Amino acid sequence: MKRIFKFILLLVLLAVGWHVYQDEILPREKVFELMAVPIPDWVDQQIIKVDGDSRRGVYLKGIRDIVIHYVGNLGSTAQQNRDYYANPSSDVSSHFVIGLKGEIIQCIPLHEKSSASNHRNKDTISIEVCHPDESGKFTDAAYQSLVKLTAWLCEICDMGSDDIIRHYDITGKQCPLYFVTNE
Ligand SMILES: [Zn+2]
Repeated sequence: MKRIFKFILLLVLLAVGWHVYQDEILPREKVFELMAVPIPDWVDQQIIKVDGDSRRGVYLKGIRDIVIHYVGNLGSTAQQNRDYYANPSSDVSSHFVIGLKGEIIQCIPLHEKSSASNHRNKDTISIEVCHPDESGKFTDAAYQSLVKLTAWLCEICDMGSDDIIRHYDITGKQCPLYFVTNE
């Protein structure tokens, strides 16, 4: 009887271990699939050059989450933020920037790493959102574009709402500020 119990326990441990192992595997094939995904016409593609730290031209290891940020620079436009990333002296970037009027600019190809989310750059797609004031609250237009963009990304990446996270969830940084202070 004791032996059977041990055997069952072993099976359970193996099953749990296998599940954890499976979960750890990064879906790299997905990254290659993304190279061929057509970008919708509501996204303004202004991909920055491979110029060092802001865009290294390195492929993602997998896609696990979509990370939401706020630009932190109040009143700045999507174009200004995109141009800042494109500056050779910049060491930050984001896959997408959403402007105050809801315009969406893509700066980094979907299958490449951006420089926005610290140690999670390797397996996340980043979205920076502009905001008019210090509260960090997004405009209605920006928020609607964010919903539209994340819904599309979830669809093409086979992800769900659980996979949409904040920069705060990775490092504890107060980003995106309004959505850290107002859960
Ligand atoms: Zn951030």
